[in-house]
Amino acid sequence: MYSIKEIYYTIQGEGHHTGQAAVFLRFSGCNLWSGLEKDREKAICKFCDTDFWGTDGTLGGKYEANELAEICLSLWPENRKGRPYIVCTGGEPLLQLDKQLVKAFHDKGFFIAIESNGTIEVPEGIDWICISPKLGSELTVSKGHELKLVYPQAKVNLLQYESLDFDHFSLQPLDDCNQSDHITTCIEVCKQRPQWRLSLQTHKFTGIR
Ligand code: SF4
Repeated sequence: MYSIKEIYYTIQGEGHHTGQAAVFLRFSGCNLWSGLEKDREKAICKFCDTDFWGTDGTLGGKYEANELAEICLSLWPENRKGRPYIVCTGGEPLLQLDKQLVKAFHDKGFFIAIESNGTIEVPEGIDWICISPKLGSELTVSKGHELKLVYPQAKVNLLQYESLDFDHFSLQPLDDCNQSDHITTCIEVCKQRPQWRLSLQTHKFTGIR
């Protein structure tokens, strides 16, 4: 059984696939924070902006692989051209996403994207691997399609990521009380280091949900 916080149909708001219609599948749980405010200060990852605790969101619950794939496909508009697109996120999706679920999604025709913190090995067959490293955790995934770095993070060194085997590098301003300063910084970094591309969280200022 997979523990799911919520499932909904939306538009990808950030990163390389910004603007892409997608089924968002949010897994419960993360290995870098419990998800409870009382634990935030002692968490490895302290700036999380997502509620991934429990199974109480829209279509949240505990599901078997085929049942979960069926529910996700039911959210995709019928008779559309192209493959249905699913974003497996969290929390940390790779705590749960396994070969069996990858197969169930592929059997339904899904293009499978993941958004992971990069601390857990990726099962075979994922079509789009987006890794968002978190300082203080060990990055075990050094290869994929997109590396999306929330910036700045304390003592982060961009050089350590630039030689990794990713096709795209996205720099995303940290969303805190100094966000406008971070946006300015990220713009400057992207101009100086064109390997990086600015990623804005468009769902936040457009109200997309
Ligand atoms: S790794 Fe991702 S899901 Fe986990 S606490 Fe950090 S931002 Fe949130």
